[in-house]
Amino acid sequence: MEEIVEKNKCTGCTACMNICPKHAISMVEDEEGFKHPVIDQDKCINCGLCKRTCPVLNTTSNKSLNKCYVAYNKDKESTLNKASSGNIFELVAKKVLNNKGIVIGASFDKDNKLNHIAIDNIKDLDKLKGSKYLQSNLDNIFTYIKENINDKKILFVGTPCQVAGLKANLKKDYDNLITIDLVCHGVPSPKLFAKYIKELEIENNDKIINYNFRDKVSGWDTYSNTITFKNKRITELHSNNKYMKLFLSDIALRESCYDCNFKIGNKYSDITLGDFWGVNKYYPDMYNKSGVSAIIINTEKGKNIFVSIKDDIIYKDCQLDEIISGNPSLRISGSYPNKRNEFFKDLEINTISDLSSKYVKKVSLFKKLINKGKRIIKKVISKG
Ligand SMILES: Cc1cc2nc3c(=O)[nH]c(=O)nc-3n(C[C@H](O)[C@H](O)[C@H](O)COP(=O)(O)OP(=O)(O)OC[C@H]3O[C@@H](n4cnc5c(N)ncnc54)[C@H](O)[C@@H]3O)c2cc1C
Ligand code: SF4
Ligand code: SF4
Repeated sequence: MEEIVEKNKCTGCTACMNICPKHAISMVEDEEGFKHPVIDQDKCINCGLCKRTCPVLNTTSNKSLNKCYVAYNKDKESTLNKASSGNIFELVAKKVLNNKGIVIGASFDKDNKLNHIAIDNIKDLDKLKGSKYLQSNLDNIFTYIKENINDKKILFVGTPCQVAGLKANLKKDYDNLITIDLVCHGVPSPKLFAKYIKELEIENNDKIINYNFRDKVSGWDTYSNTITFKNKRITELHSNNKYMKLFLSDIALRESCYDCNFKIGNKYSDITLGDFWGVNKYYPDMYNKSGVSAIIINTEKGKNIFVSIKDDIIYKDCQLDEIISGNPSLRISGSYPNKRNEFFKDLEINTISDLSSKYVKKVSLFKKLINKGKRIIKKVISKG
C-alpha cells in the first residue's frame, strides 16, 4: 500500500500514523512544508487499518445542534491581552484544569515551530492562547490522549480536520473528552512561516522570542501582528503585514483546505469557536473592543459546557447564517489559486517581500470576505 488517501486530500491529521499497530507510518514534510504520511513497506502488514481510520476516506454526516451565540468573556483585560476573539477558549480550559484535567492546544517552541502540547496547570495557559496562523504539528498527541483519557478530563482544541482526525483515531466517544474546533479558512505552510521568521531575524539582527498574530492594540477587528525580539518589538497592522497578506490571499494553504471536508454539516467537535465578524450589523450592543466570539454548539456535551461557563460571559442567542455572513469559510472552501504551484516554486528562491508583491492582489481582503458571504446568503435564500 503506497498512499492512504490522495495527497491533495490529506489534511495531515496523523490519525493513520497513530493507529498503525506496526508503527510503519511516519509524517514527512513535503516540498511545500506540509507533513504527509509515508509508509515503511518493510514494516507494513497490509492490515488496512490506516485506510479504515482516515477521516477523509470515512466521512460521516454529523448532525450538529447548531445552537449559536454571540459572546465575550466578562474579563475584558484578559480578553484584550491574550485571546484572539472573545476569549471563550480560556473559560473552558480553566474549567478542565481546575478539575485536574489536561488541555491540549497549539504552542510555539523556542525555535518558533508550532506544536500541539499538553498542559495541566493554569500557569501554562498563556502558551496555548491566541491563534497562530500556520499548520501545527500533532506528532503523537492522539496516542497520548488515548493513554490518558480514561483517567482524566481532556480538552483538545484544533482545526476541524484535527478534531475529525482525533475522533477517527479514538474510534469511540469518551465522556472525559471535550473537543473545540475553530472556524477555519485554511492553514498556511509552516515552511512559509519559518522563512518569514528567518528573514525577519536576519533583517533585524535579533532573535524572535514571541509572535502575536492577534495583538489588539489597534483594536480587535483591525488587529495587528506584534513581533517581540530579544531587544525590540515591532507592531504592524495585519493588513500591512506581508505574512498575513499571503495567508489571507489563500495562496499558501494546504491543498486539502481548498476542498475541506469539515465544514458546517460535518462537524466532529462539541463546540466551534470563531470571531463574530460583522457583529455591528446584527448586534451592535454586543460590540466589545476587546473581542467578540461566535460560538456554535454542536453536541449535548457542548451544550453542558456552555451552561458551565455562561455566568462568566456576556452573550445573546444568534442565527448560524449571521455568523456565516462574516465567516463564509464556515460553509465553503476558498478557491484554488491558479498561481499556487508557481508560488511554491518561488518560495524556494524569492524573499517574502517579493512573494507578497507578486502574489497578493491589490483588492481589499475584507471586501473579498464580505462578497463571499453575500454569495452564500444568496445561495441559501434561493434554496429556500
Ligand atoms: C489557522 C486558523 C484559521 C482561523 N480562521 C478563522 C476564520 O477564518 N474566521 C474566524 O472567525 N476564526 C478563525 N480562526 C479562529 C479564531 O482566530 C480564534 O482562534 C477563535 O475564535 C478562538 O478564540 P478565543 O478568543 O476564544 O481563544 P484563543 O485564546 O484565541 O484560543 C485559540 C485556541 O486555538 C488554538 N490554536 C491556535 N492556533 C492554532 C493552530 N494553528 N492550529 C490549531 N489550533 C490552534 C490554541 O491552542 C487555542 O486553544 C482561525 C484560527 C486558526 C488557528
Ligand atoms: S488519516 Fe489523516 S494524515 Fe492519514 S492519510 Fe488520512 S488525512 Fe492524511
Ligand atoms: S480548511 Fe479544512 S482541511 Fe484545511 S486546516 Fe481547516 S479544517 Fe483542515
